[in-house]
Amino acid sequence: MSESPDISEIRRAVQALCAEFPGEYWRKKDQERSYPGEFVDALTKAGFLAALIPEVYGGSGLKLDAAAVIMEEIQASGCNGASAHAQMYIMNTLLKYGSAAQKQEYLPRIATGELRLQAFGVSEPISGTDTLSLRTVAVRDGDDYIINGQKIWTSRAEYSDLMMLLARTTPREEVASKTEGLSIFLVDMRKVVGNGMTIKPIRTMMNHSTTEIFFDDMRIPASALVGEEGKGFRYILSGMNAERILIAAECIGDAKWFIKKATDYSKERNVFGRAIGQNQGVQFPIARCYAQMCAAELMVHHAAQVFDAGGNPGAEANMAKLLASEASWAAADMCVQTHGGFGFAEEYDVERKFREARLYTVAPISTNLILSYLAEHVLGLPRSY
Ligand SMILES: Cc1cc2nc3c(=O)[nH]c(=O)nc-3n(C[C@H](O)[C@H](O)[C@H](O)COP(=O)(O)OP(=O)(O)OC[C@H]3O[C@@H](n4cnc5c(N)ncnc54)[C@H](O)[C@@H]3O)c2cc1C
Repeated sequence: MSESPDISEIRRAVQALCAEFPGEYWRKKDQERSYPGEFVDALTKAGFLAALIPEVYGGSGLKLDAAAVIMEEIQASGCNGASAHAQMYIMNTLLKYGSAAQKQEYLPRIATGELRLQAFGVSEPISGTDTLSLRTVAVRDGDDYIINGQKIWTSRAEYSDLMMLLARTTPREEVASKTEGLSIFLVDMRKVVGNGMTIKPIRTMMNHSTTEIFFDDMRIPASALVGEEGKGFRYILSGMNAERILIAAECIGDAKWFIKKATDYSKERNVFGRAIGQNQGVQFPIARCYAQMCAAELMVHHAAQVFDAGGNPGAEANMAKLLASEASWAAADMCVQTHGGFGFAEEYDVERKFREARLYTVAPISTNLILSYLAEHVLGLPRSY
């Protein structure tokens, strides 16, 4: 795919940084289930995590298409951008709906790395995908809000200073539409951890630093409210398009990593006196994954371009996420198969990337929910839930 010299330069710079963090680094972190803080610091220092922050606040003011390339290259280099990707996708909500005072207070310090905006609290254990039924409530009390409830799967919370939190401010029965009455807060976690906020890590099949969070009469200043009270769901929908596009770009990077790894291995590995890659039974799955990845990649860039042009890429962002997550998972499975037994050995990194890539047909939105969005909102089929 042809691209501008600036984008090619970003690719080279990300590749050079990632080369400092080889497979051994990620294997060790994975075994220990420890946070790759050195990697995140290096990305921050190089300015990549401030890509979307406007220059006036100390960032590079790049568009989403460029941010997507950064995330793609991280994954294609064998690294794991899940340790830091939220800073990119949460940013959009703050940039679009945050007040001038909030931007001035936080963005310059996020750009320098003094503050980390890595936690996004939407999912809850009971409501699941049905976000509008979430139960965490924020009640106004003078100049504060008091928050009670629980979140789950709030990733990187232990390594973040700020959290974008979605909570109900008006009971569902009291609003005309169930999409009303939810609000977004930018919570300064340094002031509330151990003081209304309790974080409990959840160990998962991959190294993802995810947690559950309990809010017990957590008091935050009313100035933490982003935009207007009650409009939070609309705000995060716009942010979710950015999230889906960036995650889809990561999936493209993963697919490229698996395809290259399988291609290289199939040229080197000799069985029955010839390279396994000489067999069409080994070649064809690799070639099929390549075609699937290229098609998904086009959709990811198209969605990013619609987003950058100020359009509403709801359908495109969802399709990009659907196609890219399926392409990366197909490539992951193919890569294990191509490696035979060695696909299961830790030192090849294939099994680690395989576990990491599995997430994206489930989170941040599952395939079924994307299909249901397309069926209802694009094709006009009857609402199913
Ligand atoms: C490692 C990890 C990290 C995460 N990080 C974050 C984070 O940082 N912040 C955050 O807010 N969330 C996070 N999530 C949550 C993630 O977004 C949700 O897990 C995901 O949206 C699915 O929701 P659920 O787990 O509640 O599944 P459920 O809603 O319980 O759904 C279970 C299954 O049923 C299907 N299903 C449900 N309803 C329907 C329907 N009407 N039609 C068809 N199928 C249906 C779903 O597609 C899914 O396959 C993370 C999750 C994981 C596993």
